[in-house]
Amino acid sequence: MIDPFGRAVTYLRVSVTDRCDFRCVYCMAEDMTFLPKKDILTLEELDRVCSAFVRQGVKKLRMTGGEPLVRRDIMKLFRSLSRHLESGALEELTLTTNASQLGRFAHELADCGVKRVNVSLDTLDPDKFQAITRWGKLDKVMDGLAAAKDAGLAVKINAVALKGVNDDEVDRLVAWCGDEGYDLTFIEVMPMGEIGEQRIDQYWPLSMLRAQLAEKWTLEDIDYRTGGPARYCRVKETGGRLGFITPMTHNFCESCNRVRLTCTGTLYMCLGQDDAADLREPLRMSENDGPLEQAIMEAIGRKPKGHDFIIDRRRKQPAVSRHMSVTGG
Ligand code: SAM
Repeated sequence: MIDPFGRAVTYLRVSVTDRCDFRCVYCMAEDMTFLPKKDILTLEELDRVCSAFVRQGVKKLRMTGGEPLVRRDIMKLFRSLSRHLESGALEELTLTTNASQLGRFAHELADCGVKRVNVSLDTLDPDKFQAITRWGKLDKVMDGLAAAKDAGLAVKINAVALKGVNDDEVDRLVAWCGDEGYDLTFIEVMPMGEIGEQRIDQYWPLSMLRAQLAEKWTLEDIDYRTGGPARYCRVKETGGRLGFITPMTHNFCESCNRVRLTCTGTLYMCLGQDDAADLREPLRMSENDGPLEQAIMEAIGRKPKGHDFIIDRRRKQPAVSRHMSVTGG
């Protein structure tokens, strides 16, 4: 699948549920309204859509949410999609998770061919963790990480850089990830969805974070890529890989290879734009995948050039009204 700007679309992220067992302050409002179950694609329907994408050339599938591991019977979807790994059609099946349920599922995920997981973790301080996630318990996440290690899954920690929240902890995160053998990526907070707080109060550009890190660590740029938007360096002192995802200060749209499916079957061709394609209707219209595949090709044909997020004092509205939990990360 080639979009109008000549970019090959080889990566699909699938939000399998909009529900989450955390309420991270930069991601969701405290009183979120979730989708009615009837609007949500069944696991069989999710499999059909993912498989249609794989037939059209998608090589990497990432399950996300909400929290993917709180969707009932989610392992059935991993299990069925693993057939595409076995056939060689798919190169990677993975997920982004808050790790709260990894203790239960890490081994089964590994058994389904998952090799690495992205774990979202912004702090190592239990009180701060509870304040950020509103509902989360750091102990449970640490148990999940231990289970991932035990199952042989490679872990990448994703931390959102939050001014006044974890800006005093970045050295500790770098050192801890180095000790544990985890890759670490910092992410700039994006203006997605009403959260009842001013984004400008949370936003900490990664150029500033990197300058702060460079006072303590030797950061050597490397060419390593995972198919996602992070740019990596090696931390000389720990030997660990450190990534930066900078949707605000440096957008990476020129090399975008991704599209995102919500749990209701809406396909977003860009995280930061509102245009979307409904895949649920063509999916449910026929048992034959022809209408679905045609809808996918039409959608790819209007993938936009990129996003233009802005966070400043004058702009009160988010760039897009949907929360990150709708399209996932
Ligand atoms: N529940 C899973 C998790 O915690 O990783 C997957 C979904 S979560 C929405 C995916 C990622 O989006 C997390 O790393 C989270 O920190 C990040 N995220 C949420 N809202 C964000 C925002 N406004 N800006 C930047 N990253 C955000």
